[in-house]
Amino acid sequence: MQTCGGQASSALACELPVTRYEKEIVDVVKKNDVVVIIGETGSGKTTQISQILHHAGSTEFGVIAITQPRRVAAVSVARRVASEMKVCLGEEVGYSIRFEDRTSEKTRIKYLTDGCLLREFLSDAELKQYSVIILDEAHERSLNTDILLGLLKRLCGRKSPDLKIVITSATLEGEKFSTFFFGCPVMKIPGKLFPVEILYSTQEPVNYIESAVQTALEIHTQKGPGDILLFLTGKEEIEKAIMKLEDRIRQLEEGSCMDAIILPLHASLEPELQVRVFTPSPPSCRRIIVATNIAETSLTVDGVVFVIDPGVVKQHQYSPMTGMYSLVVVKISRVQATQRAGRAGRTRPGKCYRLYTEAVFENELPPVTMPEIQRSSLAGAVLHLKSLDLKDINVLEFEYLDPPSRSSLEDALQKLFIIDAIQEDGSITHLGRRMAVLPLEPSLSRMLLAAEEAGCLSEALTIAAMLSCESLFLPSPKKSASHKRDLEFKSLPDGMGLGDHIQLLQIYEKWHEDGYNAEWCKEHGVKIRSMMFAREVRRQLSQIMKWEDKGLSRYRRKDPKMLALRKAICTGFSNHLAHRMQQHNGFRTLGAKTHLVQIHPSACSMEVDDDGLLPEWVVYNELVNVGRPFIRNVCAVKGSWCQPALMKLSKLSVTKLGGAQSSTLPSVEKEQKVEKPAIEPLSATQKDLV
Ligand code: ADP
Ligand code: MG
Repeated sequence: MQTCGGQASSALACELPVTRYEKEIVDVVKKNDVVVIIGETGSGKTTQISQILHHAGSTEFGVIAITQPRRVAAVSVARRVASEMKVCLGEEVGYSIRFEDRTSEKTRIKYLTDGCLLREFLSDAELKQYSVIILDEAHERSLNTDILLGLLKRLCGRKSPDLKIVITSATLEGEKFSTFFFGCPVMKIPGKLFPVEILYSTQEPVNYIESAVQTALEIHTQKGPGDILLFLTGKEEIEKAIMKLEDRIRQLEEGSCMDAIILPLHASLEPELQVRVFTPSPPSCRRIIVATNIAETSLTVDGVVFVIDPGVVKQHQYSPMTGMYSLVVVKISRVQATQRAGRAGRTRPGKCYRLYTEAVFENELPPVTMPEIQRSSLAGAVLHLKSLDLKDINVLEFEYLDPPSRSSLEDALQKLFIIDAIQEDGSITHLGRRMAVLPLEPSLSRMLLAAEEAGCLSEALTIAAMLSCESLFLPSPKKSASHKRDLEFKSLPDGMGLGDHIQLLQIYEKWHEDGYNAEWCKEHGVKIRSMMFAREVRRQLSQIMKWEDKGLSRYRRKDPKMLALRKAICTGFSNHLAHRMQQHNGFRTLGAKTHLVQIHPSACSMEVDDDGLLPEWVVYNELVNVGRPFIRNVCAVKGSWCQPALMKLSKLSVTKLGGAQSSTLPSVEKEQKVEKPAIEPLSATQKDLV
């Protein structure tokens, strides 16, 4: 029997479509090793299937794992399920996301990100602690879920009789999963969606935010009760739209329409604010929820009757040809448009306002969303696969549901080769194995290992932890964030000019000196929550690396340790090298493909020499395209440190890993001929750096 909590929302859970098929679900899982379950978003797949299987006894011999592509969803649904089962979060029901584990010995139902489950393969390739693995939200086709699909397929091929695999999908892509898993049964849970009327715009809006705000106001002033769900692409847009809405609703004549509560919903929202969207609106009050794509399938907000869909989404896209990331606003797919519309018909017939024309829907929206594996950098995933020792296959032939392009696999191999994670023949090195264990991007892991060897691990751990924070600085009202930061941290002259990594280190050290003080953060425009997170990440990374923390000590820029640290950063990011152009104040990136780039304006100001020039050589974390190419998170390094990487780069053209044209690669001799005088003798300012 389903446990029903005392709350109204829990009572609702008992009427969810999934719970009506309790017996069938238990049956089909019992009889099959792999099952695909397709059900509308909001039908109870995420919160109910785990409970149903738990009550049917599936957890007697192992834990039920439910993967989520998004961290926020893992936390939110674990909370929800714990409250439905009336247990404390972290006991019978828990969650595990990167750097945060809320599970215990008692845990029987464990929500975790797909990345976390992938990591668990490293310590137990057969995932013995689990009785059931539910790959949830598989239709989202996140990179990690796609890799998991391939690994789980191998696992069930090897016959692991006690492990059951359930794949859930909100779209008909479920059929594709079944074909991938040897034609396993597909169970379709009929949804109880009410009809949703689709209204198209007659013309393309000039500005979709304005048009969305306008549409929301029209609904609010002219239509009957029911909450509005408005999709936008990111936090900034959401904040802007909310400001506009609040302004205009304030101007409405009092009593002319019902009250409105306007709520944001996005991944970087503080958890306390996130849960507000699950509280039903008070009587005679309309909620307007302005959300990112997170509300498309991951989180279900009840009470929505009107959906406003501008037809766009923000997407990370990585091009292996250029090595560049861009965060671009792209058109959603038709499948996504259908999902969004469906959010309006959960409680009663609803309406979906598409802010684009029907012709655009028919002719311009792609039919399905491109899976992440085809638009991400694969270095981390490839290193992971290599470290699993899948002896019988190589990563180029791994069984992918939709294979990534050969060029993106090659790009990943090249990147790993340069940072010593794999050898020329593609086999994983000892260093590569150690890197794979760390829950970080390969370059950051490499940096830590280099720092460990050079005796500056403590500092490198701080940098890795600080870089793991999503947003560190409070928005500054007037000046640009970087300007403000420079002002705030004037008191840190020791590292100024060496770049972002060193500045992050010094911010943390300053905070530490101030006794991890919240006031200090406020004063310096730094988010306390992010700093606490960095502290926790640092603690965990120290633990994984078995580093006994003996406290922090600050270093002067001329301290040899500071030099060693920058050298370690250089080793880690040697696949992200850039050399200053002689003629103008930009940089040229080195690699299979070179680019002329600028340092991103968000960077802290870099040291310039007497001629007003930036450092000769830098490494960077990211190459991003925001209108034009920028490098972000930059560290000044020395030319001589780059030689091993340049050497490897020149080798690439002749190795199997390559595929890159030698003409686009700087050969070592060429590099030395051109660069040598530029590297040494050092300019006066650079001498200072040493
Ligand atoms: P699905 O996975 O099929 O999309 P879910 O299991 O996520 O469906 O949601 C089922 C129901 O549980 C929905 O009505 C949803 O509103 C509710 N629900 C899910 N998470 C929460 C939460 N954190 N708080 C309150 N209600 C929730
Ligand atoms: Mg779900």
